[in-house]
Amino acid sequence: MSYDDGNIFARILRGEIPCDKVYENDHALAFRDIAPKAPTHVLVIPRGPYETLHEFAEKGSDAELAGWVRAMAAVARAEEVTEGGYRATVNNGRHGNQEVPHVHAHIVGGRQLGGAPRG
Ligand code: AMP
Repeated sequence: MSYDDGNIFARILRGEIPCDKVYENDHALAFRDIAPKAPTHVLVIPRGPYETLHEFAEKGSDAELAGWVRAMAAVARAEEVTEGGYRATVNNGRHGNQEVPHVHAHIVGGRQLGGAPRG
């Protein structure tokens, strides 16, 4: 499986498509989901060309992985959902219903969420 550099998040990373940026660091970019499921719904993506979480975990550098996870925490802090709590979700592949083939974490919060995981 090869990375599709025409996917929408790759295009956002290249600045070809706008996004509502929330946070960025050397290794990650965070922006609001275009179809939010809760008051806070932010996507956190690594800058590198990784399609899935397992590909990123296996091939990404320690700095890239740390930058991505730290970006998630920074987003939660900036969105003021750390106290109330939130969910960080990564959908992977076909059975995981991953729609965009660039690894991304959903940071969802700002209201009481339902129980998870759900099928
Ligand atoms: P997933 O099913 O985990 O691949 O989720 C993909 C997410 O990307 C969905 O929640 C979409 O609403 C979101 N999305 C798709 N296109 C954009 C975009 N241009 N800007 C922000 N979010 C987007």
